[in-house]
Amino acid sequence: MSVIPHLINGELVTETGRSTDVFNPSTGQAIHKLPLASRETIQQAIDAAKAAFPAWRNTPAAKRAQVMFRFKQLLEQNEARIAQLISEEHGKTLEDAAGELKRGIENVEFACAAPEILKGEYSRNVGPNIDAWSDFQPLGVVAGITPFNFPAMVPLWMYPLAIVCGNCFILKPSERDPSSTLLIAQLLLEAGLPKGVLSVVHGDKAAVDALIEAPEVKALSFVGSTPIAEYIYAEGTKRGKRVQALGGAKNHAVLMPDADLDNAVSALMGAAYGSCGERCMAISVAVCVGDQVADALVAKLTPQIKALKIGAGTSCGLDMGPLVTGAARDKVSGYVEDGVAAGATLVVDGRGLSVAGHENGFFLGGCLFDNVTPEMRIYKEEIFGPVLCVVRVNSLEEAMQLINDHEYGNGTCIFTRDGEAARLFCDEIEVGMVGVNVPLPVPVAYHSFGGWKRSLFGDLHAYGPDGVRFYTRRKAITQRWPQRASHEASQFAFPSL
Ligand code: NAD
Repeated sequence: MSVIPHLINGELVTETGRSTDVFNPSTGQAIHKLPLASRETIQQAIDAAKAAFPAWRNTPAAKRAQVMFRFKQLLEQNEARIAQLISEEHGKTLEDAAGELKRGIENVEFACAAPEILKGEYSRNVGPNIDAWSDFQPLGVVAGITPFNFPAMVPLWMYPLAIVCGNCFILKPSERDPSSTLLIAQLLLEAGLPKGVLSVVHGDKAAVDALIEAPEVKALSFVGSTPIAEYIYAEGTKRGKRVQALGGAKNHAVLMPDADLDNAVSALMGAAYGSCGERCMAISVAVCVGDQVADALVAKLTPQIKALKIGAGTSCGLDMGPLVTGAARDKVSGYVEDGVAAGATLVVDGRGLSVAGHENGFFLGGCLFDNVTPEMRIYKEEIFGPVLCVVRVNSLEEAMQLINDHEYGNGTCIFTRDGEAARLFCDEIEVGMVGVNVPLPVPVAYHSFGGWKRSLFGDLHAYGPDGVRFYTRRKAITQRWPQRASHEASQFAFPSL
């Protein structure tokens, strides 16, 4: 079994001490050993970032952007290799892995606009001989902690932007599928990034706590489950750090009686079962307005769910791979049992699926529940697997109340032909990202990404314009150059025009 190294100060570093196994979920085999960083290792990365900061901060933004242009090219040239690594350790299909990389590259493209993004604001003559401007300056050393489900895309939400803004970045990727994340960071160094500006350290809670506690780390970006997001937000802000912590989700799709049902069914299949339901924007609840819509939806979904092509993610032409770990598969199966016990109707049961040649893989077939009600655990909690719950309601207002009452507010969508209903939905729904006939409304890189309620802790969303604000701090400068011959007397009243 090979050992995956850290990447610190431009060097691949191995570490003896605590470690964990990385699995191929399609075979159920451990394929790599991963070191879990000690406090000393984290400090090495912090020291390297601190040392690199003064020169990087003073590197012209256009030069910093040039590194990102080369990085984008390298990412595109290495797409197949990166997708293979994602698929081997995460389990998602190669096409899906390539798709996440493409969405990640969008953020590198946005970062290429650094000179434009960082231009600042200028006002001439705000008073006699006085000019004023706002400068957006980097914070220093910042860190990111990322989840397993997008090992390429989510880190790319963070460090390209943080780095073009002039910061140095320490990334703690998920311990489940770190190889693609590491390769991508190496490509950024190959693109010309000075050593120390980006380090990758592997680890678990101990590594994260070391980053939270380090006074040199000025900001933390986190993406993962809600309990950990809340913990990092509380501990980070307590220490005066800037924190954006994106958490879990339960995303509802509302189906109106006038919706184009065939299109909605196609959209729901991809949004509920793509990536085995392991997406923070996956649709996990279909809210049907009226029994007629619900009956028709369940009738159309059932044969398609049973026909899902499931196998090793690295094989071609599949719809779904395995879940990421055996524990994740057992947890999702436990939710299915729980739903049955609570009285929901299990229309399609994906448990017990065996894939020929991959009998030890962490597979679970698509599952569909009908007649789910709000007090059930399968409705309230994030399952993070290939399970879709159908809830029946009588009106759009009831559907919206249901969504607004849920603790999560990441994404949602409405399927309808009625502009008035869609507009009301967009106006009144308490969710951060909304789709109208778009099932996975993940904002493009030049809009920012973030949920509401317990799906995000912090004030600023990830990437895009909010990302720029998060990774910079405003300095307001007021400057006077008195005319040579003038002398101004002291003013004791508060200065005003
Ligand atoms: P997770 O919370 O278990 O882990 C995320 C990161 O936190 C990992 O790097 C992990 O090592 C670290 N971590 C785990 N336990 C920790 C602890 N006790 N203290 C400190 N750090 C700890 O999440 P996951 O299972 O990797 O990812 C799935 C979750 O992420 C889902 O809940 C999903 O909805 C969420 N997610 C949210 C978004 C979003 O944008 N809102 C995007 C992707 C994933």
